[in-house]
Amino acid sequence: MKHFAGWVMALCAATAWGQSTTGLSTQWEELTGPDFITAIHQAQGVCLLPFGIIEKHGPHLPLGTDLINVRYASQHAAQQEYTVVFPPYYFGQIAEARQQPGTVSYSMKLQLELLQETTDEMSRNGCKKIVIVNGHGGNESLLPFFAQAQLESQHDYVVYVYWWHAGNAPDRPKEHSKNDMHAGESETAHTLISRPDLVHLDRAGQESGADENRLHLPDGLYTGIWWYAKFPNHYSGDGSVAAKELGEYDMKAWEAGIADVVRAVKADETSLKLQNEFFEAAKHPLETKQ
Ligand SMILES: [Zn+2]
Repeated sequence: MKHFAGWVMALCAATAWGQSTTGLSTQWEELTGPDFITAIHQAQGVCLLPFGIIEKHGPHLPLGTDLINVRYASQHAAQQEYTVVFPPYYFGQIAEARQQPGTVSYSMKLQLELLQETTDEMSRNGCKKIVIVNGHGGNESLLPFFAQAQLESQHDYVVYVYWWHAGNAPDRPKEHSKNDMHAGESETAHTLISRPDLVHLDRAGQESGADENRLHLPDGLYTGIWWYAKFPNHYSGDGSVAAKELGEYDMKAWEAGIADVVRAVKADETSLKLQNEFFEAAKHPLETKQ
């Protein structure tokens, strides 16, 4: 009987968006104060911070594509493995798209301060293991830098950064395009799953997403204008060839990847222990055994 009741509850709860199989919402902003306490305990202190951005995505996708997709994957993952998902967050690195309409680009200083205060506040509320789920390529340097900077001063929580990549699994539907970095085939396919109503497939060919390759520098030499040199339209690839099949495959893989990460982070007792040991030792470097 107990099993049957549990099964019915699970079935009912699974139909509601943002609800876990236990009936508790997975979304921070949907929980009541008293339920939040239960939620954090149920999540074993693991919280997700899906990190998006607001930037142009070709002529055919919404400005919030990264935010929409990373939240879609995170919320579905949280239903598979319970965790609390932080409210919409899009205060990342996107200076390279400032010439495009609708881009919201905060200063580097503010990005770091806001992220630090956000994770501090999450921790103060019991999230002692924070997984930043990255949904935006331009954050690729920011987020590991932020995670590394956590060693600067003592924290009673751990910051993890997860960035899912489409692998080369043999069963992944074949891509038609070679160049597919931003608002291209796969990102368009993902949005066909998360918010098909916001995808204007018929407009995807109105601008060029071809690599203009205007910069000729030796390998290993980096400069910030590299992206603009390649893709002045802030569009890389061809969204018009996107198919739902690829989107479905990738979104499932992304969700499963996040759910696996949540399980692993719940089980991880080592990171915080080592962090504490490190901070203690860092107070007295001359006493560190040589
Ligand atoms: Zn994107």
